[in-house]
Amino acid sequence: MTAQTETHRFEAEVQQVLSLVIHSLYTNKEIFLRELISNASDALDKLRFESLTNDGLMESGESLGIALEVDEEAHVLRIADNGIGMSRDELVRNLGTIASSGTRRFLEAAAEAEERPDLIGQFGVGFYSAFMVADRVSVETRRADADEGWRWTSSGDGSYEIEPAEGLGRGTIVSLHLREPAEAEEDADKSPRRFLEEWVLRDVVRRYSDFVEYPVQMEVTRSAPKLDEEGEPIEGESEQTTELATLNSQKPLWSRPKSEITDEEHAEFYRHLTHDWEAPLTRLHFSVEGTLEYTALLYLPSKAPYDLFDPSNRDSNVSLYVRRVLIQRECKDLLPSWLRFVRGVVECNDLPLNVSRETLQDDPRLRQIQKRLVKKVVDELASQLAERREEYRAFFEAFGPVIKEGIWAGDDDDSRVAKVCLFQTTHGSEPTTLSEYVERMADDQEIIHVLTGASRDVVEASPLLESTTARGEEVLLLVDPVDEWVLQRLTEFDGKKVVPLDRGEAAEDEDARKKREELEKEHEGLLGSLKEALEEDVAEVRFTTRLKDSPAVLVAAEGGLSGHMERLLRRSGQDVPEQKRVLELNPEHELVRGLVKLHGVDANSPRLGEAAELLHGQALIAEGGAPKDPRRFGQLVTDLLLGSVTG
Ligand code: ADP
Repeated sequence: MTAQTETHRFEAEVQQVLSLVIHSLYTNKEIFLRELISNASDALDKLRFESLTNDGLMESGESLGIALEVDEEAHVLRIADNGIGMSRDELVRNLGTIASSGTRRFLEAAAEAEERPDLIGQFGVGFYSAFMVADRVSVETRRADADEGWRWTSSGDGSYEIEPAEGLGRGTIVSLHLREPAEAEEDADKSPRRFLEEWVLRDVVRRYSDFVEYPVQMEVTRSAPKLDEEGEPIEGESEQTTELATLNSQKPLWSRPKSEITDEEHAEFYRHLTHDWEAPLTRLHFSVEGTLEYTALLYLPSKAPYDLFDPSNRDSNVSLYVRRVLIQRECKDLLPSWLRFVRGVVECNDLPLNVSRETLQDDPRLRQIQKRLVKKVVDELASQLAERREEYRAFFEAFGPVIKEGIWAGDDDDSRVAKVCLFQTTHGSEPTTLSEYVERMADDQEIIHVLTGASRDVVEASPLLESTTARGEEVLLLVDPVDEWVLQRLTEFDGKKVVPLDRGEAAEDEDARKKREELEKEHEGLLGSLKEALEEDVAEVRFTTRLKDSPAVLVAAEGGLSGHMERLLRRSGQDVPEQKRVLELNPEHELVRGLVKLHGVDANSPRLGEAAELLHGQALIAEGGAPKDPRRFGQLVTDLLLGSVTG
């Protein structure tokens, strides 16, 4: 320890991860190498990327790579890269706290599922997996843009040390002091020290890191027959030679023929790309030829990342390569925001290597690629929907709200996105597609009914469903917050209007309309005095034919916001002007008839106003809202009850 050594404590969560890792019985310990090589490869990507805009970071033509070094006597395995390196602050932040979301998720899942040693393998706990095989780990690193280097050391026991380190080249060397085998590891093929052997390292690299684009190299010793002066082997004599062997083929997965890539290779590549521990739902691998040539390898995840709705993280997650060089990791011009969950790689060799973020944005070639990718992804969604309904349903539950953003973003002129959406429906508990809905429509049903609301329970209880239910017509129950926005664009499907039940006038036939209008004329006085009582809250009071069992309901005025939308906007902190909606009364309902009678007897009865307030409050409650003045509403109900109990 030098005078400058500082001891830090790990963040509590890191310590939790470490003790899970150290005490894990997980047998697949070799994944630590995959994780460390993957970190090294990321660090090389970062260097290459930063050096596009910062000439000083690396020499031109310099070779980038990853080296494995073995010190058999000291039982040390080193993984070295000449990548971006880390500053002192980065060391503390990256290795002392939980930097990666994958690790955080691992911890959450581990808390839920005790005794699940396989979790480590599924998640890959990144750097910390080193402690599965090592009882001491040191990281020596120098950042590409810094002169000073640092050494981080820990035994995984609650703290780590940081001190300055002299004489380091650019990049990072991770040294693992491979621990002695535990009792259960006495077999040579279980010992952590087997990772000192060349063939073991070769095997593990080939299995997990073959596609890493940088060479993973190692000095190997060969014994070859000794040669005499004429170059002929001397019998019985041999000599040791060392050579640098590259252990991985470095062939990017996407550049290989589709049929030759195994599922395991895809699984590894996906994990390398995403740090996602769950297998993807599906993949798309295709090349486009013509004036613009490119290859795409895209994965649709099966589980939503925790930050899917993080407003600061709405860019595409597909990386752009030009001639094997990673140009942009999350190239936002390759896919629109509503496909931000798609992960993968596009390589286009027709683009210049020196493209920058700025020029990419306006590049018509990228727009052309994007258009094609969107079409391919949506086609794939359609075929998943058709062929794997169960899986697709779970997928849509996770990603549906994001996919629907594509509709309100105006990217769905041809309804192809709408066609892959699933909606709750009154037609049973299974979600349905719009096309299935249309197929079930009776010949005389002209419009697609939808109803938005906060939850299935709330909308199912809505009085607005009464007349459609009575007619045996299906209603789509749109309970995703995003649905309100979707409806602003999704006004038609398959030539049929999509009409929210709570907006505008009810769909009614000519006879019904005439009858209603006559009634309204006849009881103009009553409707007028109810309206007067609710002057501040409603735009109109009218009769409706859309109710069966309930006396009243609130609907949006023509062009106005629905109650659900108003509540959503308020909740998201927006200043929405007070919306006056329409209170509709069911003229067939006994209560409404009673009001007609009361008005006939005493047009000025104060009970008319109170009834108006009660009906309005009740209608608000029925749609999952609350009366405007709950105290006053409660008082009116109490008075009413008092009347019925005592009177
Ligand atoms: P993840 O790789 O999933 O982000 P890790 O725990 O493996 O999580 O690593 C944490 C962070 O430490 C990385 O995100 C990276 O910033 C940094 N890091 C790890 N290894 C290296 C390396 N060889 N060179 C530079 N930075 C590294």
